[in-house]
Amino acid sequence: MDTYQLSDIFYKSFFKGKLDTTLFEYLENFTSDAIGEVDLTTGECKEIFQVGGKYISPSSVASFPELYVFVRDNLIHPEDKEIYAALMEPTTLGQRLVSSDTPNFIFAQFRVRTLDGSYRYIEHCVLAGEENGIAPGKARYYTFDIHNMKGKETGVHVTDTQFSDWQRSQMTGLWSERAFYKHAEEYVKKHEDRCKMIAIDIDHFKLFDDWYGREKGDALLAKIGAVLLEEEKKCGGVAGYLGQDDFCFVADISDRNIRQLYAKIKECIVDSGYSIGFLPTFGINCLPKGQSLGESYDHASVAGFKAKENAKGNHISYYDPAVHEQGEEEYKLLTECMAALERGEISFYLQPQCRISTGHVVGVESLCRWQKPDGEFVSPAKFIPVLEKYGFVTDLDKYIWEKVVISLKNWIAAGKKAVPVSVNISQIDLFSLDIPSHFEKLIKKYKFPAELLKLEITESAYAENPDYVNAIVEQLHKLGFIVMMDDFGSGYSSLNMLSSLNFDVIKLDALFLNFKNENYKKSIRILESIVNMTKMLALPVIVEGVETEEQTKFLEGLGIRYVQGYHFYRPMPPEEFEKLIGDGELIDDRGFIVKANEQFRTREFLDETIYSDSMLNNILGPVAIYLMKGNHVDIIRFNQQFYQTVDDVDFHGRLTEIERFVPQANRPELFNAFREAYNNKLQGSTVVTPFAKADGTWTTYFLRLYYLGEQEGGKRFYGSATNMSEFFKLQNEMNLIAKYSSDSIVFLKFVKGAYLNMAFTVACHGLDKQMGLSKSEFEQELNNGRFYTRLEANDECDVDYLMNEAMKNKQGYSFEFTMICLDGEKRTFIIKGDPVVDPLTGWSYIINFRAK
Ligand code: C2E
Ligand code: CA
Ligand code: CA
Repeated sequence: MDTYQLSDIFYKSFFKGKLDTTLFEYLENFTSDAIGEVDLTTGECKEIFQVGGKYISPSSVASFPELYVFVRDNLIHPEDKEIYAALMEPTTLGQRLVSSDTPNFIFAQFRVRTLDGSYRYIEHCVLAGEENGIAPGKARYYTFDIHNMKGKETGVHVTDTQFSDWQRSQMTGLWSERAFYKHAEEYVKKHEDRCKMIAIDIDHFKLFDDWYGREKGDALLAKIGAVLLEEEKKCGGVAGYLGQDDFCFVADISDRNIRQLYAKIKECIVDSGYSIGFLPTFGINCLPKGQSLGESYDHASVAGFKAKENAKGNHISYYDPAVHEQGEEEYKLLTECMAALERGEISFYLQPQCRISTGHVVGVESLCRWQKPDGEFVSPAKFIPVLEKYGFVTDLDKYIWEKVVISLKNWIAAGKKAVPVSVNISQIDLFSLDIPSHFEKLIKKYKFPAELLKLEITESAYAENPDYVNAIVEQLHKLGFIVMMDDFGSGYSSLNMLSSLNFDVIKLDALFLNFKNENYKKSIRILESIVNMTKMLALPVIVEGVETEEQTKFLEGLGIRYVQGYHFYRPMPPEEFEKLIGDGELIDDRGFIVKANEQFRTREFLDETIYSDSMLNNILGPVAIYLMKGNHVDIIRFNQQFYQTVDDVDFHGRLTEIERFVPQANRPELFNAFREAYNNKLQGSTVVTPFAKADGTWTTYFLRLYYLGEQEGGKRFYGSATNMSEFFKLQNEMNLIAKYSSDSIVFLKFVKGAYLNMAFTVACHGLDKQMGLSKSEFEQELNNGRFYTRLEANDECDVDYLMNEAMKNKQGYSFEFTMICLDGEKRTFIIKGDPVVDPLTGWSYIINFRAK
């Protein structure tokens, strides 16, 4: 529905007999700007209702003819005076009502001047007749503001600022908050027990405005409003717009219709080419008896909030008290925290970083602090993870970074000696922001020197996306920033990854070492090995969370120079830190340095008195020693990690002549890699190769090989192995999804073992609308056989049969079948099977459905 005409809605639906109210009740309930009554015989008139602060009223009118003249001459737009006269002219009004096509109902649209002097489009309806519930000889008029709908027709942009909360929102055409609750309550009374409340919002909508602009954001909201309005018209129910990106729909609606509604709203976003980062979320609450609508809405929102966690597929979730209690708490925390941010209740503390030998301050870390108005502190360890989980941490971080820069800037301006300050960057920020350009803009805005700002990125962010993070670090370096790796040792970086690391400083958290418990010795060993690695990489280390003198001494003994922790200083308010620094005597401006002679010696690394086997294994990851003789390769030694990665029932049967388990086509490359490692002893070589397991599946490894020496007439190699299967599987699925159009289904038959344990996996599904089945439902039906019961009796759509045919015929095989879809309709689909035995993913067949 593009152009929106109020009278269309009510009177068409009324005369189609869809309403169970009289037209009078309907108009009275339809929130209007003004209602008045006219006595057609005496000419008396009275105003029943008018919204405040919007329209101009004559100070005193004695009769309807006088009111008519006043309005026509003073308030109606000059171009619309004739339209107004043709509707309201007092002497002929009664006659017009009688002879109207819709007896006793007439209406027109025109512009009227408002209190602020601007003209707005209104629709004016006049109703009479006892059959409509109006006393004989009287007529009622109703005024509706349709300015924004008109604006869309005429291309004039009108903002949504002027509507009263009893009206329809002009941007979306839906009830605004108060009106919505009022109408919803009435609706629920009539449809008790069967109502569902759906809280609808758009993921990351704030970002949407940032990315595409406010106008596009408003247009999207209007489009969603139109979808809901249509649903309201078609299926009943009450839809409201509650501001920002929040919509609510109360209706007696089936789960299937909910899914369809979801798909329609999703289309508004996807069809307009917007990022699917902006998917809609539906939180649904099946209204329990006696619950207030406000509370119901809260529960529906909590369900929606949980639905966002489901990163893939539909964000639809039903409220379940047992499941959502935790969500409710998180949700509360999140909304409170966002509000606190807006109210400026969140600030930061500073914790000094010190040189052990002198106790002087080499830097300082900013740590955010949320103090509630009642004085209570909420720990960032509690709210940061929640903000991260739902993607809001970036708002907070941007705010803190700017505050930190401003405060340091003021400090320098006051003539004090500057201390480099670190800020925390959350892993989420790395993906939701262009970090280098954001920081570049930030320091330009405040003319702040880059080298005074250090950025802390956690190791887990790096471990999960090393290349991506390295690229960001490189750009930050070009801009002059120092980048620290936070919480090193708590993540999962392997030695291999560390060699390509380009951070400037490593931060080690002493807390995870747990000096207190009986694993004390183990902690020390881990710490030692990490320190050795960082020495090898010539990286300065700072240990944080240092609480005692004893720990400090111990760390110093290990060669660590910098610490941050309660032993020196607790985090403190910036003013206190300023006082501490005073005239700058405590400041050590040499920054973090490493001695050049602290080179790591590999032998140390292999010294059994320092490193336990399990520690070495953890550091090295899966490793094996290979022996190559002629055209055969044997594995002669391996570590626990290697054994675990291969995870094969026939592990020991596959250690000799391993080339037998590599596809023929990949063997030359494998042997080449060994030869290259032999020729290039320092650099070694790398190769990617699939390897067959006893159950018939394939695993793909990335091998890094080094030549070790001669042995028993063969050559001995050291090789680290990384299992790449998950990665390739994902990549392959992505390719498949990209290859087939969105109006088809691709599903694959995964053969586990020799035709045992077959399972279907649907890789992508664009037919959900026709079939009425979501991706996971379709998958389930294929696997439990229910799918076959949907086929016409004479259709032999046997998927196994299809695949057998496809195997016989290398070109693939296809046929048509008719399916009874969920809406009861029969539709014809074409199914096509291609035999693919993919060594990388183990997918065995690709089957493609299309609607005919
Ligand atoms: P983090 O970055 O590892 O910060 C160090 C934490 O250790 C801080 O906790 C600090 O107060 C605490 N700490 C320092 N010395 C000691 C000590 O000797 N003993 C003990 N037990 N703790 C010590 P805090 O301030 O509670 O912050 C917790 C975490 O919240 C931070 O860990 C960081 O990951 C996150 N965080 C704090 N502020 C921000 C921020 O502005 N942005 C982001 N994204 N994360 C932040
Ligand atoms: Ca930190
Ligand atoms: Ca840390």
